[in-house]
Amino acid sequence: MRILITGGAGFIGSALIRHLIQDTEHEVLNLDKLTYAGNLESLTPVADSPRYRFVQVDIADSERVAATLAEFQPDAIMHLAAESHVDRSIDGPAAFIQTNIVGTYSLLESTRAYWLGLGTERKAAFRFHHISTDEVYGDLHGVDDLFTETTSYAPSSPYSASKAASDHLARAWQRTYGLPVLITNCSNNYGPYHFPEKLIPLMILNALAGKPLPVYGNGQQVRDWLYVEDHARALLKVVSEGQVGETYNIGGHNEQKNLDVVRSICALLEELAPQKPAGISRYEELITYVQDRPGHDLRYAIDAGKIERELGWVPEETFESGLRKTVQWYLDNLDWCRRVQDGSYQGQRLGAL
Ligand code: NAD
Repeated sequence: MRILITGGAGFIGSALIRHLIQDTEHEVLNLDKLTYAGNLESLTPVADSPRYRFVQVDIADSERVAATLAEFQPDAIMHLAAESHVDRSIDGPAAFIQTNIVGTYSLLESTRAYWLGLGTERKAAFRFHHISTDEVYGDLHGVDDLFTETTSYAPSSPYSASKAASDHLARAWQRTYGLPVLITNCSNNYGPYHFPEKLIPLMILNALAGKPLPVYGNGQQVRDWLYVEDHARALLKVVSEGQVGETYNIGGHNEQKNLDVVRSICALLEELAPQKPAGISRYEELITYVQDRPGHDLRYAIDAGKIERELGWVPEETFESGLRKTVQWYLDNLDWCRRVQDGSYQGQRLGAL
């Protein structure tokens, strides 16, 4: 397949592209605007492959998107481009409305025009895969409840509200126009190349620097954690074998309280990086409770039974094994982290199609 990935310079998109290039024969075009979250250095392992190309384009720029589609002639589009950080959406929601809602609308329309022009066979085989979050479902209060594909939407933050809107648009383009859309909603991803503003890398890097480890509220919020490489495998399954018009939830069977995640990171660092910064005897001493995030959801947990039953996907990593790999990756790649933290990763602007 020729697959166009939007947001391929981001955390999940780059893991997906590394998987597609390293483990399959698919051809990939990465279409990314390169916001602060886009980092082409996450694609270094595959950048020289003749099956990989990059273009710097905004999904809302319909002229350039149309030209890119006409030239690349994709068999599938996997749409990951988004503003994705909840705290940033609280401080400045405008970019979230623009990219996640207006941008997705624009991309759906560009895709529909391209798809209508395909021959009968290619038109039937074409797929538009919209990638979204379990945060659209709001939060769970019962300890045994799980989000399923039919749970009502009740988003809490500007980020999750904008993603909910984009899911509705994608679904409507399938119902109204017949565009072959599939949707996935997944839980919190973690793993290598994660931008240091997110919980797990932030805690690892702060601990190594002897800085406070900020935990929101009492740290009792529960999240389900999905190893990013397990997610990449699930996405490929869905785009290749999923039923058009269906939604699949993807989760890692790894529910953890935020505070326990931070404690597990500290315990791994005691073992893997025993030489601590001056002034502390245990990494856990750095844990600092800070004022809770407004509208903070208490618990997310996913029922991933449908994708497991229907498509035969199961996560390979437990939280223990995935977290160990992640902490080790950050210890081995402090140079990548330094270049993100000092901004030098933003120097690279490449690609023309
Ligand atoms: P990310 O923030 O790491 O990457 C987003 C990418 O999109 C960046 O490369 C950025 O440059 C690009 N981008 C942003 N605006 C764009 C635009 N207007 N045009 C083109 N490119 C643009 O995000 P991520 O964590 O990799 O998430 C990818 C997708 O998965 C998002 O849609 C997100 O909502 C969803 N998701 C993420 C998680 C998670 O835990 N990270 C969980 C559930 C769902």
